[in-house]
Amino acid sequence: MKRILTQLLNLPDVVVESSLKEGSVLILSVSKKVKSAVCPHCGTKSEHLHQNQNYLVKDLPMGDKEVILNLNRRRFKCKKCRKTFSERLDFVGMKKGFTHRYAEYIVKQVISSNVSNVAENNGLSDEEVKVFRGKLPPESFNVNSMIEDVAQNLLPIDMSNLRRLGIDEISLVKGQGKFIVVLVDIDTGKLIGLVKERKQIVIENFMKMWGKEILEKIEEVSIDMTGNYKNLVEKVCPNALVTVDRFHVTKVIHQELNEARIEEKKTALELNIELREKAFDSLKGNKFTLLKAENKLTYKQKDKLDKIREASPLLKIMHSLKEEFHDIFDKSEDLGEGILWLLDWLDKAEPYYQKSVKTIERWFGEIIGYFERKTTNGVVEGINNKLKLIKRSGFGFRNFRNFEIRALLSWHYNINLAR
Ligand SMILES: [Zn+2]
Repeated sequence: MKRILTQLLNLPDVVVESSLKEGSVLILSVSKKVKSAVCPHCGTKSEHLHQNQNYLVKDLPMGDKEVILNLNRRRFKCKKCRKTFSERLDFVGMKKGFTHRYAEYIVKQVISSNVSNVAENNGLSDEEVKVFRGKLPPESFNVNSMIEDVAQNLLPIDMSNLRRLGIDEISLVKGQGKFIVVLVDIDTGKLIGLVKERKQIVIENFMKMWGKEILEKIEEVSIDMTGNYKNLVEKVCPNALVTVDRFHVTKVIHQELNEARIEEKKTALELNIELREKAFDSLKGNKFTLLKAENKLTYKQKDKLDKIREASPLLKIMHSLKEEFHDIFDKSEDLGEGILWLLDWLDKAEPYYQKSVKTIERWFGEIIGYFERKTTNGVVEGINNKLKLIKRSGFGFRNFRNFEIRALLSWHYNINLAR
């Protein structure tokens, strides 16, 4: 029986000494097979048992039985340095009320669900196990503490291959003006860090934690055009070329085009009734028809676009400039062609896209890097969308640390977000 339970338990070098059933709970008394441990103070192997120390931890269930390990973490006395020490157990952290694999088992569920569901499904908040609450440390029921346990074994992420970094910011709560900073490895398409606020010094300190060696290897950093990051990058990543991604430039143009649509809509309201209806209706709710690439429009949308063009000569011009702008990035074959085409476009666009033209001129050097390197933060856009999804399904994650861990785990833990 003991041998079978030891096999079933399947923890390396651990044997089951005895077992006890209490209702739906199986309590297994276990200890390490080896009779010695290595002293953490001086590295000497010691066989001098000083004291047995038993305590309870939660482990993976066996079938429908909950499993609690009655663990003997032995204390040894080192002959060489005379100090006493507790043996290290690789399957459970010091002073933790659960095994690492139990924490993983819970966290895997949390990533595709939420904390309170998982707690409930695993009897972590349930009345039934109240009896055992007294025996187990309170931490054995704390899902957040399990998340932290898993994160500690996984983080920090290995960044030795980081060459192209993307920095972007997103607002997780719309309209609150609170932004977090998203750091992305453009080559792997993975999230590598989240910074709680976009203050330069906070981001700088965060990146400096990666260490000089990593920072010096970064060859390119792709940023947006808010002006928050250029100085920072030049300071922290001494060998990196700063580029602005076409995705961010496009965003600026789309925004200005949409603002023009809204203005035209307002103007249409001032027309006499007959004209007004025609003009106003074609501009109302047609943001995406106007912004979407023309060659990707459905027949119905194409029809709408024609109506917009008819109703507003201004939007007709702006729309065609927007289309041309995409062509510059899609079709330029080399740096020279890209630069000339973009300069030509800026000339034509200036009367219509005053804001965008100014912004593009200010960031010209960083933007044209695209024609050479074709770096695109499309990756960043995808990551931002997934972060919003995590945030939405993250009921029960109240603080930033939990959100951060959950986000990092979902890119580095080989678990896909279900749903
Ligand atoms: Zn020692």
